[in-house]
Amino acid sequence: MRPAGNESDTLTVLTNGRILTPYVEIKTGTAVIQGRQIVEAKPAALNDFPSSARVLNLRGLTVVPGFVDMHIHGALGADTLDAAPEAISTIARFLAKNGTTSFLPTTVSAGWEQLGKVASAAVEAKKSNTLGAEILGLHLEGPFLNPEKRGAHNPAAIQGVDLNAVAALLHRFPGLVRVVTLAPELPGALDCIKYMAGQGVTAAAGHTSADFATMNAAFEAGLTHGVHLFNGMGPLHHREPGVVGAILTRPGVTCEVIADGHHLHPATVRLTASLKAPDDLVLVTDAMRAAGLADGQYDLGGLTVRVKDGVAKLPTGSLAGSTLTLVKAVKNAVAFTGFPLQKVVQWATVNPARVLGVSAKKGEIAAGKDADITVLDQDFNVVLTMVRGTIVWDSLQKE
Ligand SMILES: [Zn+2]
Repeated sequence: MRPAGNESDTLTVLTNGRILTPYVEIKTGTAVIQGRQIVEAKPAALNDFPSSARVLNLRGLTVVPGFVDMHIHGALGADTLDAAPEAISTIARFLAKNGTTSFLPTTVSAGWEQLGKVASAAVEAKKSNTLGAEILGLHLEGPFLNPEKRGAHNPAAIQGVDLNAVAALLHRFPGLVRVVTLAPELPGALDCIKYMAGQGVTAAAGHTSADFATMNAAFEAGLTHGVHLFNGMGPLHHREPGVVGAILTRPGVTCEVIADGHHLHPATVRLTASLKAPDDLVLVTDAMRAAGLADGQYDLGGLTVRVKDGVAKLPTGSLAGSTLTLVKAVKNAVAFTGFPLQKVVQWATVNPARVLGVSAKKGEIAAGKDADITVLDQDFNVVLTMVRGTIVWDSLQKE
């Protein structure tokens, strides 16, 4: 690890790298960072900087915006629902090593008292987390889900829509909750969607068997996002396009894809990428606490999950989150779709940043944005990760 120095005013120069902004590819370029912000990214390797500058010669390595994971439950044995600041910080540090620079710790269905504890833990973790990915807020996946499509959510924790409960949490922790995933067909769901949209919270459809008409009513109410498309929802039917058909055909509605090769067939990822606009796709990991650890038995929201060959399943055979990292998802998505890396990087950076309302600062290598930067080698190994100008992971010095 390189000494951090005083990050507030350090001039850092990443030179001689291939920069994917990601809207533009700069074949050989330089990114200049002052303190926590990007000053510029431009073509050509530059040498003319003050001697005090921290200059990193990247020798052709690829520079991308740090990945943004809006749907991750856990890693390295830690889970968001542990409701402990240290658990969330453990996840944050794991992510930093793997090139993800900001994220939403994500809950599975639980009682509101437990969710309140998670929110307190997230607030604490935000204050103390210095060597990990930045915590952007919380994603509440559930508890207003359709029990028939519960996947790996504990059936005892799933409940009907309770607008007062969600409103109380939003009041207690202003600005913390960024995404709430719910099933739009539940009684009261449309009012809940309207309320959340009014509060600046992204309302997302997931673990749902809503029909096409209900989904369109949900869009009208303010729902803008679909959680792990195809997983935890009814299939596409030619006479009842359902959740999948509604999300795929609605411009501007974003959707998550888990590109681990297990949740979706590679051809399904290719199909989705060919149907959705490039701005509307979001890669997520949906990783659970076994990410970064060996195969074995783990807990997810009170359910026992067995991980074999990196695939997490309930005893019923239902998939129960993943052990994926976003850098691996990007690598897989390039292989599955044949799209160029520059396009695929957009799905893991600027697109989730836009969904979360943070694209003014996150997701792009451009002047004025936060210096959240990931450097990759040609085999998709994460060589360096920078979070708001601080180098939190660096394997360059091991060379
Ligand atoms: Zn889920």
